[in-house]
Amino acid sequence: MSAVKKILFVVMDGLGDRGCKALGGMTPLQATSTPNLDWFTENGGSGVMDIIAPGVRPGSDTAHLSLLGHDPYEVYTGRGPFEAAGIGMSVKQGDVAFRCNFSTVNENYEVTDRRAGRIKAPETAELVKSINGMKIKGVEIFVKEGTEHRAALLLRGKGLVPNITDADSHNLGPVAASEGKGKKGEFTASIINEFVRRSHEMMKDHPVNLERRKKGLPEANILLPRGAGSFPKIRSFGEKNGMTGACVAGVGMIKGICGICGLDVIDLPKECTGGLDTDMIRKADVALDALQKYDFVLMNIKAPDISGHDRAAEQKCEVIKRLDEMAGHLKDNMPSDLVIVFTADHCTPSEVGDHSGDPVPVTIYTETMLKDEATKFSESGCAKGSIGRIRGYDLLPICIDLANRSEKFGA
Ligand code: ZN
Ligand code: ZN
Repeated sequence: MSAVKKILFVVMDGLGDRGCKALGGMTPLQATSTPNLDWFTENGGSGVMDIIAPGVRPGSDTAHLSLLGHDPYEVYTGRGPFEAAGIGMSVKQGDVAFRCNFSTVNENYEVTDRRAGRIKAPETAELVKSINGMKIKGVEIFVKEGTEHRAALLLRGKGLVPNITDADSHNLGPVAASEGKGKKGEFTASIINEFVRRSHEMMKDHPVNLERRKKGLPEANILLPRGAGSFPKIRSFGEKNGMTGACVAGVGMIKGICGICGLDVIDLPKECTGGLDTDMIRKADVALDALQKYDFVLMNIKAPDISGHDRAAEQKCEVIKRLDEMAGHLKDNMPSDLVIVFTADHCTPSEVGDHSGDPVPVTIYTETMLKDEATKFSESGCAKGSIGRIRGYDLLPICIDLANRSEKFGA
């Protein structure tokens, strides 16, 4: 058996696209010169990948579960636990987690602004201090502020279930009462309803809100939970694959998913954000460093997805130029015993402004890789390759085998 290799996934978030009118019918990848990405395609093997299944529009969360070798239909238990983990809360087996909004209610307990004027930290962090750590009917309640007006909520205790309705009606008007079926459902819903009521009691005259009242801003005087989910039963990455692994990502949700899957989450320098302006070369260096210690590294770069959501095809081309420079940096600095993958977690077509179910391009390169007919890293270019059309969760086993780490099936 040959010596084992290490594996790097370069996940360019939302990179895949469809033909764009602004680009004369081409995709941003087709319309942009990418000599470094093309080098990998020319010297590696390529194909296209249905992240979940043909025509299924993945979220970044379910997409990353699939890239890490899981069938998302088996392990995805709602956004709550992944988001909570993503902002640094330690989610445990049995916890029920929610996403929340800081919202505004009037004196009649009617929602007048679901985002409390898009309040953000440090005000949200101050407010959280007043509601974090309470106990209702023996259930411990943890709250942490997220980005902008968002927060995550964890319930920890006995007899909790996630299948209850949202206390956030997603509309203006009366605050919805959460409801659940059966004894446990009713119990969990009662905890949430009591928590929502208390959050209002404790925040309505909070100094942060007195200050906002003075300025005429919407007060963040209630926390509305939605999207309940329980901690998923996921076999840890190390145990499942016999490798150590780490993730290099700027976005909380991606970090959360990778953490729950058993990857170590690497702290990034502040110039490596989850935004458009992230320093991609620096991020690549962090990933290369991590490869000295870990067998597997997943690096996520969010920027192309942001351009797709903004419906900015030309901006996406600019992002792709920077991604190509990063690919060049990896080409010049990567270790020789590496299996490196360039792909996306889904398409975010620039004229759609959201994720689509189109397959994404994928190129796998390692020394002695069987070369194929594909020479251009793009949706159509990669489709010419020998890997054909695979599912998202096929990618990791293929790479584990190329890294000489797979176990033989049979004698
Ligand atoms: Zn994504
Ligand atoms: Zn997206």
